[in-house]
Amino acid sequence: MEFKGRVLEHPKGTWTIYPSLCKGCGLCIEKCPTKAITWSEVLGVYGTPSVESNNKCIACGICQMVCPDCAIYVEKKK
Ligand code: SF4
Ligand code: SF4
Repeated sequence: MEFKGRVLEHPKGTWTIYPSLCKGCGLCIEKCPTKAITWSEVLGVYGTPSVESNNKCIACGICQMVCPDCAIYVEKKK
């Protein structure tokens, strides 16, 4: 099985969501300190909305840490 990521470029970093891993639990939305994550029209593994981030993202990596399904990958810009 191939996991295709949606790569979103923000001023502070590159934020990738793997919708095929996201089960839509909303934990990342809850824990993001800058409220940069919202529900997406792209569906996740169970046909529920996955998530996406906006340019309020500071690339802190908390969403990546809290996601139980490793559906988010964050890379801070140098
Ligand atoms: S990296 Fe930090 S600021 Fe960016 S979306 Fe994740 S929790 Fe929010
Ligand atoms: S924490 Fe992970 S599984 Fe839950 S909504 Fe966010 S990306 Fe999806």
